Amino acid sequence: MSPKAPITQDVMTIPRKLPEGKINLVGLTRDQLRDALIEHGTPEKQAKMRTGQIWQWIYQWGVRDFAEMTNLAKAYRAQLAETFVIEIPEVVTRQVSEDGTRKYLCRIAGGHEVEVVYIPEEDRGTLCISSQVGCTLTCSFCHTGTQKLVRNLTAAEIVGQVMMARDDLEEWPVPGAPKDETRLLSNIVLMGMGEPLYNFENVRDAMKIAMDPEGISLSRRRITLSTSGVVPEIARTAEEIGCLLAISFHATTNETRDVLVPINKRWNIEELLQALASYPKASNSERITFEYVMLDGVNDSDEDAHRLIDHIKRHNIPAKINLIPFNEWPGAPYKRSSNNRIRAFANIIYQAGYASPIRKTRGEDIMAACGQLKSATERARKSRKQIAAEAGLQS
Ligand code: SAH
Ligand code: SF4
Repeated sequence: MSPKAPITQDVMTIPRKLPEGKINLVGLTRDQLRDALIEHGTPEKQAKMRTGQIWQWIYQWGVRDFAEMTNLAKAYRAQLAETFVIEIPEVVTRQVSEDGTRKYLCRIAGGHEVEVVYIPEEDRGTLCISSQVGCTLTCSFCHTGTQKLVRNLTAAEIVGQVMMARDDLEEWPVPGAPKDETRLLSNIVLMGMGEPLYNFENVRDAMKIAMDPEGISLSRRRITLSTSGVVPEIARTAEEIGCLLAISFHATTNETRDVLVPINKRWNIEELLQALASYPKASNSERITFEYVMLDGVNDSDEDAHRLIDHIKRHNIPAKINLIPFNEWPGAPYKRSSNNRIRAFANIIYQAGYASPIRKTRGEDIMAACGQLKSATERARKSRKQIAAEAGLQS
């Protein structure tokens, strides 16, 4: 593994300041929840049971009001309400695309905004969530990359996006009703704004909550974390989260990847491939997704397709290659490859024995497609100097 440290360890998470200094229970791990209860008057002997009960109310039933927690004594409910709140990000706007894709703009502490996208499909529904406001990285084809990093999201704000979507989809079960196995929100992808591996602990805690069987209860195989290639955190992702991994690969030579995904200057293609090859969860049933954005005349030649296969084969990585037609945004310096080019590229990969689905563009009419996310309040474009300084790429 590379001895180099991640670029942005200094990024602070500023937790939400709550009304009257109350503590938000959302986003706490089970242990943290237990500690918080004990610290505020729950007898230690009862703490484990109360933690389980409150956890279920919050994450299984979607309850936000302590008064509704009917298996707790009335006086205890009142006591909880004095100290704690159950709070998630507030939806500011909600847009529904012609194809059913929903884009939410959510407000979090400090007046910042993040975008969350829900993509319904025939047999599943995927929620694309954000991990940061903006991004420190500056991938040249990504709209979010032109936005300054404002801050990391807290665990509450990350799992809160999932809870917010379940509210909107009206998907919380009703106590006593039979369990419905066909979920509207069945998958999560960490592919919204931000680099999840630069906000590791909060992303981990939030995803652990989403996976907890006594709550939202999504299988770890239904959660995919997408990273631009923060090599030192990749092994940790397998160990501490255990979800599926997607990697924003996008180029087959260091020369091109340095431009498209500048973190490549820190950890190059070879270092990245080595980390992926040893991703402990990698097996044929849990292939790593290589995301590859198709940019006209930049990374879409037959030679690129062959080199891509060669990289993956050389390291024996169980992989599928997800080709993403470039989504344009105002001022973008690239064009989308033609459909014929994308199909030819996909075919070379397929012939080599790898799945090569072409990602269907969804929600384009509401600017909800990959890489188009950027909140309206944060349109300031970074200066070149600032980009270089933030990324720590020029010494
Ligand atoms: N920061 C993480 C996750 C967010 S980006 C990462 O980079 O992986 C989610 C995916 O959308 C990435 O694969 C990213 O490369 C891709 N993407 C970004 N901008 C895009 C655009 N304009 N068109 C198509 N895909 C884009
Ligand atoms: Fe950040 Fe990912 Fe966009 Fe790169 S592609 S700028 S890492 S959000």
